[in-house]
Amino acid sequence: MRAPPPRGRTPPRPIGAEAELRPVTALKGVGDALAQKLAKLGVETVQDLLFLLPLRYEDRTHVLPIGALRAGDRTVVEGEVQLAEVVFRKRRQLLVRISDGSGFLTLRFFYFNAQQQAQMVRGVRLRCYGEARRGTLGLEIVHPEYRRADGEDAQQTEDSLTPVYPMTEGVQQGRLRILTAMALDEAEAQTVRDWLPPALLADQQLPGLAEALRYVHRPPPGADLAPLADGRHPAQRRLAFEELLAHQLSLRLLRRDIQADPAWPLGGPGELARQFRAALPFSLTGAQERALTEVLADIAKPSPMLRLVQGDVGSGKTVVAALAALAAVEAGFQAVLMAPTELLAEQHHQNFERWLRPLQLPVALLSGKLTGRARQLTLNAIASGRDVPVVIGTHALFQEGVKFSRLALVIIDEQHRFGVHQRMALRDKGLGDGRYPHQLIMTATPIPRTLAMTAYADLDVSVIDELPPGRTPVKTVVLNETRRDEVVARIEAACREGRQAYWVCPLIEESDELDFQAAEATHIALAGALPGLKVGLAHGRLTPTKKQAVMAAFKRGELNLLVATTVIEVGVDVPNASLMVVENAERMGLAQLHQLRGRVGRGAAESSCLLLYRGPLSPLARQRLDVMRATNDGFEVSRRDLELRGPGEVLGTRQTGLMQMKVADLMRDSDLLPRVQAAAEVMLDRHPDNIGPLLRRWIGARDRYGKV
Ligand code: ADP
Ligand code: MG
Repeated sequence: MRAPPPRGRTPPRPIGAEAELRPVTALKGVGDALAQKLAKLGVETVQDLLFLLPLRYEDRTHVLPIGALRAGDRTVVEGEVQLAEVVFRKRRQLLVRISDGSGFLTLRFFYFNAQQQAQMVRGVRLRCYGEARRGTLGLEIVHPEYRRADGEDAQQTEDSLTPVYPMTEGVQQGRLRILTAMALDEAEAQTVRDWLPPALLADQQLPGLAEALRYVHRPPPGADLAPLADGRHPAQRRLAFEELLAHQLSLRLLRRDIQADPAWPLGGPGELARQFRAALPFSLTGAQERALTEVLADIAKPSPMLRLVQGDVGSGKTVVAALAALAAVEAGFQAVLMAPTELLAEQHHQNFERWLRPLQLPVALLSGKLTGRARQLTLNAIASGRDVPVVIGTHALFQEGVKFSRLALVIIDEQHRFGVHQRMALRDKGLGDGRYPHQLIMTATPIPRTLAMTAYADLDVSVIDELPPGRTPVKTVVLNETRRDEVVARIEAACREGRQAYWVCPLIEESDELDFQAAEATHIALAGALPGLKVGLAHGRLTPTKKQAVMAAFKRGELNLLVATTVIEVGVDVPNASLMVVENAERMGLAQLHQLRGRVGRGAAESSCLLLYRGPLSPLARQRLDVMRATNDGFEVSRRDLELRGPGEVLGTRQTGLMQMKVADLMRDSDLLPRVQAAAEVMLDRHPDNIGPLLRRWIGARDRYGKV
């Protein structure tokens, strides 16, 4: 199913794109039944067939003498049937012994029909393909692909390596090979066009489309399989380049679309900001000032800001957000801050209330847990505009029924939890007077610059690369959970010195119920082991009031130890806490661990983070925990995380749509990224008509927000 073409200023489809968009049924021998099966592989057009790329290749370009065959070889052999018999060895099976004069080989079939059995007569020549292994009767191939080789094509071998395509029920490899062969002919006949202009290809030293596709679908005999298997062959790089370019262009067009709409310029004298700063117990770091300056310059313009602020945990993004919000309020508009969790929304709400009360600015909290009359009152206040200039909430903010009166700034905290389309939904809430809100996105998963410019090509990026002064680096220790007693002793010691500690229980298979049981059990055990201490418990099941009460008690120092599920992951701010214990750390993502660790080291005291794991550790898990031990720098953590897991895992695949790629791999192909960005400029400037077909080819039915 194709979505209707995106609205707005996407270039019109030029002549020539029609041919490649012909349905597969236009090919000889493809009826509706086959077309339906192909659709399951995402193949609907002739062009889609070309971009259904082989998973791997088999070498059937030459016949190996049986005598040269080794166990483990995947190859073609040919021989005459010497003997065929059905035997019972645990299971009924057909054994066929063939020979080519250089040696003997057994073919073993567990599934066979009478016709197959009858075919295997002495003297018949068979051409077989499969993997040789050592069996009870010497070398054998279990269930080889085979055909009779005594006809006229007896001597013929494949003239290219054989592609193996992704499978779907009811479409055989042989059929896919025939279909892709027809599609390749079309590419060579130029009905599937190369939308990259020749000058660009020459510049980038990339092969043409037809050549690249031919190579990838039918590598010539003797082709080096290693680079092909790794996706590093120039033919694959050409396709990856095109795919990355398509994604880059789609985000750039999205951005262009958004910025073509008008926004309210929010430049003002900054009187509110001055008052706010005067009451703040600290002054902003240089990095915060820089990011803020960039934000304020953006929102002073009459087109919507699209800016991402990256900053490590604890770098002080919230204050920057608050100052941006004040610019909106001063200009007579509303600002909204959207947080990924209830807990974080509540905490932001508390901070903003504390900061803005002296300025006589009310702050509303809209969470999913607010219901009934209280919710209606809040909604009314939000809709009336001037009653609540600042609104904080969770994704409950973009539910229907939430109306703003003069929304001019949308701030989103912890971007990686939200999809682009959610961001857009909130943006559409601003639609009043035909103006759109400015967007400020804050993330604590900082990623390297080139990658950011690719993953967030629709956004400008500011970086807060400095922590507020007076922080002490957290010391991270990795421990087997069998050493729990030592850990408990450390908690006791820290608390006796007046410090506080967190104990984070693991997420258990995404189950709320189990999470909460595990946290309860741990709470009971720790309270028992530490009779002199006050131990609190916070988890997602508590009502907001209860959770707040627990958090507040911890913040006031009335609790020594807080047992919690990962609900405390983001945002909790208790400077006196200096010890963090994380259970089953091997199961958590590095970004999450880094967030958790960021809960300590917020005061002047020496802080530690103890990562407990349950052995045995896989080598990858070991490496990941080593990263945590080796660095406190969020950029470094995410760089290593990207290397170990890849961007799809780290950033979330739903985020931009960018990560669901067919050929390209952002890490492997990262050296292409600067060239892709340059090429995107060239395409936008000089070849705008080629962009539409490129987007349809690579992004297809996904809409412009990256929604699938
Ligand atoms: P994050 O970037 O992780 O969201 P926060 O905005 O929660 O960080 O800030 C972490 C803590 O640092 C808060 O207690 C905040 O008040 C404090 N803070 C922010 N900026 C500064 C600064 N310039 N100097 C001192 N403390 C600061
Ligand atoms: Mg934050």
